Amino acid sequence: MSFVEAEIKKFESSNGSGTNLFYQALEEVIYSIAPLLESDPKYTEHAILERLVVPDRMIEFKVTWLDDNNKIQVNTGYRVQFNNALGPYKGGLRFHPTVNEGILKFLGFEQILKNSLTGLPIGGAKGGSDFDPKGKSDFEIMKFCSAFMTELHKYIGPRMDVPAGDIGVGSKEIGYLFGEYKKITSTYEGVLTGKPFIFSGSLMRPEATGYGVVYFTETMLDIENKEPLQGKVCTVSGAGNVALHAIEKLYQVGALPVSCSDSQGTIHDPRGVNLDLLKQLKLEKRQSLELYLETHPEAKYIPVEEYPEGGHAVWDIPCYAAFPCATQNELTELDAQNLITNGCVSVTEGANMPSTPDAIELLQTHNVCFGPAKAANAGGVAVSEFEMSQNASMSTWTFEEVDEKLKLTMQRICKRVALTAKDYGVEGNYVDGANISGFKKVADAMIAEGI
Ligand code: NDP
Repeated sequence: MSFVEAEIKKFESSNGSGTNLFYQALEEVIYSIAPLLESDPKYTEHAILERLVVPDRMIEFKVTWLDDNNKIQVNTGYRVQFNNALGPYKGGLRFHPTVNEGILKFLGFEQILKNSLTGLPIGGAKGGSDFDPKGKSDFEIMKFCSAFMTELHKYIGPRMDVPAGDIGVGSKEIGYLFGEYKKITSTYEGVLTGKPFIFSGSLMRPEATGYGVVYFTETMLDIENKEPLQGKVCTVSGAGNVALHAIEKLYQVGALPVSCSDSQGTIHDPRGVNLDLLKQLKLEKRQSLELYLETHPEAKYIPVEEYPEGGHAVWDIPCYAAFPCATQNELTELDAQNLITNGCVSVTEGANMPSTPDAIELLQTHNVCFGPAKAANAGGVAVSEFEMSQNASMSTWTFEEVDEKLKLTMQRICKRVALTAKDYGVEGNYVDGANISGFKKVADAMIAEGI
């Protein structure tokens, strides 16, 4: 049995949900890069795939902290340093009760190829904790972040590993983590990105992923000779950092975003969602989306209990372009079928691996333009790297400068992915184009660096 077959077999027989996600990500890449491996034996001779699928190291540690009732709480912290062939390890921290080794392995693996696609000198990593920030006071979040950094600081550094945010980790949490790092090490250095602008953060980092997703979509639609987003109804899932900034950019380009969702339900507002209200509810106060109806009783709220079995209400809303921006596997085969039936022309992934393999296959066979996460949501990590550059040179770029660089980066990624797909005989397949292009660059660097 070949290595590839053996790895796929492991995926098929694995049980834990986190582990399954890793093999889901791996299987997609293995199938995509087959034409590259076949066209050049050097990748097999240098055992690149075997080396790439095993993280350089996985760090697991205990995080002990005191809650507001002076009760001791214990969580687990992780950092998966996957590959640094192209530059220092780089990837977000996720604070969510579902976080485990397997989920972080999937996210870290995806991050290697995503970071490679940006063309910037950054390796791949991911980390986080099973800590749930929901319902915690600011003081509790601060105490948790301090305790987390007490351990994490040993393994990170501006030229070693530079974490950022992800689900549950925004600029507030990054601020607390940075404060603790500074205290422990007595250094003021760019060891984290996504810092608030007031102390060496980059302008536009919060907006970067969501804006980038829209820039990517505009480029993809143009390459595929489809009509642009102006005047088109769009559906977005999620109501966090990525989703709300995708909605913001959609309005800026003249589109009409009519939905968003959180873990409890979906809002459908056919006249266009009220972005200011959403920011207030979800980013500032972390409240339920249902409260949207207090201001907009004419909108519709669909709680998760009313979703179709095996599907999600948000993908049942007719749209020209869809943007899954919440979490993994939130767009299923049934959802894909609904999108196709309703005439959807493009799906772009803002979240990491939000579409199931069956959904992707169905969308692609029906010629729906499909922008995969590792290419389409790379805007966040690209602006993180811009933040590292600004920190290293002690300079500050304007909002317009960062936005222009982001736009160019997303256009470049999209064109490169499309061109690679064409070169390898799979024109229009952005999944294969992204996997081949991202893999090739890392693989060539690994070969050049020796074992
Ligand atoms: P946030 O924590 O800011 O927001 C996540 C949002 O998704 C919340 O509104 C949450 O709802 C909602 N959500 C969670 N689970 C579900 C579900 N099952 N169904 C519907 N909604 C759900 O995270 P981000 O916006 O930062 O991240 C979203 C995705 O984008 C993740 O996959 C992340 O890995 C990816 N990503 C993020 C980047 C960034 O720069 N932040 C960069 C690249 C990728 P609730 O409020 O109820 O919890």
